[in-house]
Amino acid sequence: MGFPEFFKRQLTIARVYGIPVRIDYRWFAVVILSVWLIASNLQKPIQLGNVLLPPHAPATAWLLGLITTAGLFLSVFGHELAHALMARAEGIEIEEIVLHPFGGLARLKTDPQNPRAEFRIALAGPASSFLFAILAFVATKIAAVGDYESTVVVFFLIAAGNLLLALFNLFPGYPLDGGRVLRALIWRRTGDIKDATRKAGICGILIGGMLVLFGVYILISPNWRAAQPYFMSVWSILVGLFLLDTAVKVVKSAQHARLVTVSDAMSPPVTIDPGLMVTRFVDDILPLHRQTSFPVAVSGRLHGILSLEDLKSLPKERWATTRVQAVMRPVKPGFFVEPATTLDSAQSVMKENGVGAVAIVNARGELVGFLQRGSIKRRSRTKPR
Ligand SMILES: [Zn+2]
Repeated sequence: MGFPEFFKRQLTIARVYGIPVRIDYRWFAVVILSVWLIASNLQKPIQLGNVLLPPHAPATAWLLGLITTAGLFLSVFGHELAHALMARAEGIEIEEIVLHPFGGLARLKTDPQNPRAEFRIALAGPASSFLFAILAFVATKIAAVGDYESTVVVFFLIAAGNLLLALFNLFPGYPLDGGRVLRALIWRRTGDIKDATRKAGICGILIGGMLVLFGVYILISPNWRAAQPYFMSVWSILVGLFLLDTAVKVVKSAQHARLVTVSDAMSPPVTIDPGLMVTRFVDDILPLHRQTSFPVAVSGRLHGILSLEDLKSLPKERWATTRVQAVMRPVKPGFFVEPATTLDSAQSVMKENGVGAVAIVNARGELVGFLQRGSIKRRSRTKPR
């Protein structure tokens, strides 16, 4: 395991509702930075609205930094858990929750089936963060009345952190939650999830780019010099780059999926002669090919599709006397497509035609390829939340 790989490694820290919760090693760097930032600021006097907080002793400041960071950590986790539980309520299984340096990620095993589910899952996160922010603000007020100054700071920072988490995630660019809401809305209007993903991803690219520019701007602008915005600048640039990177990948893969045709994905056909005896097929051809259906053809002309499912109903003792043409499904429109058909529409043809496969026939009527569901190489998709 190389050095960069080590830092990509994830540690499973808990299981909540059966969902593994993992942290990215880089998360530790962010935790240390957060504790240090809070602790060093608490050693100075702080004005919070009309409450003036005296400087804290170093030991107290570090302890409060630790407690506040733990609170923020739990807030991010609560946000992701809200996405995950809403997804589960929509019937989607959850692979894992990952906490990484720029927040979290609830990884779903499958994409939402409809825009309504996508919309609800996306909004569950920011809604929970708003709720946590309100609760923490109320706690801040109560602590202020009771004169518990240290507690005021902790609750105030947690409230502010949650508010920021909710608002930032509502920016309408994929992969942020707001971008998912946008995707759900476009998806509902047009019925085309790929196009919706592409559009929401483009908004994500714009927002990521704006964050990078903003980070650079506050670093070089004289107006900001007095505020010493180094930390904010670096954070803005890093988050911007992270968003840009993810959004570009999402847009590319959505565009790719729209352009890929069956001729890019098909394999050369392993054809069966209709006159072949079933027993010969089972003994000689089947063991060599990991397929569940085969095109039946004579000199390049498709006659039908032989599905292993259909062989099951044929008693074994009749295999030696039955020809393939007697058990195959004779060719019909749903069994073949043209080479220029998009992979997307071929997928839906295969889903509908009952054999889970489709033959590719060119304009001259020649069988040129075969495509089977499940054998198409899946590209890995990132599903950050
Ligand atoms: Zn979220």
